[in-house]
Amino acid sequence: MHTPVAYLKQKLGELPCADALEQYQSWWETTGRGLSETIDRAGVPWLRQRNRFGERVDEVVMPEGYATLVHEGYKHGVVWRVIEQNDWLSSFLLGYVTAYYDPGLYCPHTVSLSTAVPLHKYGAPTLKERYLARMLRRDGEVWQGATWMTEAGGGSDLGANVKTVAVPDGDAYRLTGEKYFCSNVNADVAVVAARPHGAAEGVRGLALFLVPRFHEDGSLNYFIRRIKDKIGTRSVVTGEVDLQNSVGYLLGSADAGIYLILEVLNISRVANSIGSVALLQRALDEAESFARGRIAFGKPLSEQPLMRTQFTRWRATLDAAFALAWESARLLSEVGMQTPPYSPRYHLFRLLTHLAKYWTAEQAVQAAKWCMEVHGGAGVLAEFGVERLLREAMVLPIWEGGSHRQMLDALEVMQRRNAHTLLLEHLAPYAEPTTLNQWRERLETYLQQPPETQEAELETLIPPLAQWVGQLIARA
Ligand SMILES: Cc1cc2nc3c(=O)[nH]c(=O)nc-3n(C[C@H](O)[C@H](O)[C@H](O)COP(=O)(O)OP(=O)(O)OC[C@H]3O[C@@H](n4cnc5c(N)ncnc54)[C@H](O)[C@@H]3O)c2cc1C
Repeated sequence: MHTPVAYLKQKLGELPCADALEQYQSWWETTGRGLSETIDRAGVPWLRQRNRFGERVDEVVMPEGYATLVHEGYKHGVVWRVIEQNDWLSSFLLGYVTAYYDPGLYCPHTVSLSTAVPLHKYGAPTLKERYLARMLRRDGEVWQGATWMTEAGGGSDLGANVKTVAVPDGDAYRLTGEKYFCSNVNADVAVVAARPHGAAEGVRGLALFLVPRFHEDGSLNYFIRRIKDKIGTRSVVTGEVDLQNSVGYLLGSADAGIYLILEVLNISRVANSIGSVALLQRALDEAESFARGRIAFGKPLSEQPLMRTQFTRWRATLDAAFALAWESARLLSEVGMQTPPYSPRYHLFRLLTHLAKYWTAEQAVQAAKWCMEVHGGAGVLAEFGVERLLREAMVLPIWEGGSHRQMLDALEVMQRRNAHTLLLEHLAPYAEPTTLNQWRERLETYLQQPPETQEAELETLIPPLAQWVGQLIARA
């Protein structure tokens, strides 16, 4: 059986936090795997909404062992390495290991990172002292974050659908509204999109607020309405939240709010790409181990010519997906601390990130489905855990902005920032000049079409572009 760290070493050579990765992987093998299976089987966690005196407490009751499971990643540095050492790559490598064993569990780590970074970049010193310091702890007292943008009207069009309003109150704001998809709902602090009272309509009027779970006196700052029952990702609790005059602190300036919201989403999109690739590897490893052991027509499945061809193709897809995701992680480690107005490298990062989020998530779903097929009937049975991969994979193309959104945003950054030119320049050292020119002509011709045609035909452009970029970087 392959392991995640062995694959990472094979692709990257020396790893920046090799000892921590080995330790973390051993912990998963000895302890984490079992806990993760127990939590998946336990199903929906429950909400103790009131104590026995009838007071609201909104306590999320998780199965035994959950705290141990989620804390191990924080301890190893999925958040503190980025904030204290500006070491994004180690964080993503740890995320890769997490997602290989439990893709849903990478969500709490990711949203905590996506909370800590804007707090670090844009938070007032008092806020950092009060909240960030606790997110960097390496013990069981570590605080978790969450990123809540989506409301019931829909997540893609935030400008139209964020109805939460923020009213100034001294040096803070009071937020009122409903957040409909709140992952890591039991977090200690969240970043929340809201519209300051009187701000413009649309996305330009949105701002980002830091909202703690409790007031200083220990009373609830917002209420959890319910916990959602999901197909998978049971290692992260997703709920609905009522903000009722809840205290929030503005991050950065309200005018630049939409940029901050997109920064948060883009960090999570890189993590989603890394997690998708880890799931893809896991699916291939599981398929390979079964195919070696299952005999059909006199020899192992892995030696049947049709199966061999499929394995070869999937291994190449894994390498291309890894290369694409890793390139977007590498660029984030370069531009992640930039603030608006951004450099051209940031726009290149955005294009690569949309390509990576889109393509890796789609490949992960297909790989999980194929892994089930390789297992035949056993793949469908809950007792062998293969079906879990598909249940976990299904959300990857949806959250952090759906696949349509990624294609449309990739188009936008090409139209408005010429990011395709930046991408081709970035790839020039690795690409055949003829192929590079063919892509340049193809992209320029595409972008001269009427806007509606450009949107309508995106599936003829984005998937092959993402695949080409991934394959090219993988070969390089
Ligand atoms: C398990 C889970 C956890 C989540 N956790 C969080 C969280 O913690 N925080 C948070 O903010 N959100 C969270 N989300 C919400 C998620 O980000 C949204 O589901 C996602 O952004 C899509 O929004 P929507 O579901 O409202 O679909 P809609 O926006 O209604 O879109 C429906 C479909 O239309 C497509 N579409 C939209 N616009 C266009 C267009 N112009 N052209 C073509 N197609 C288009 C979309 O891609 C999608 O396929 C979570 C979702 C899930 C499932």
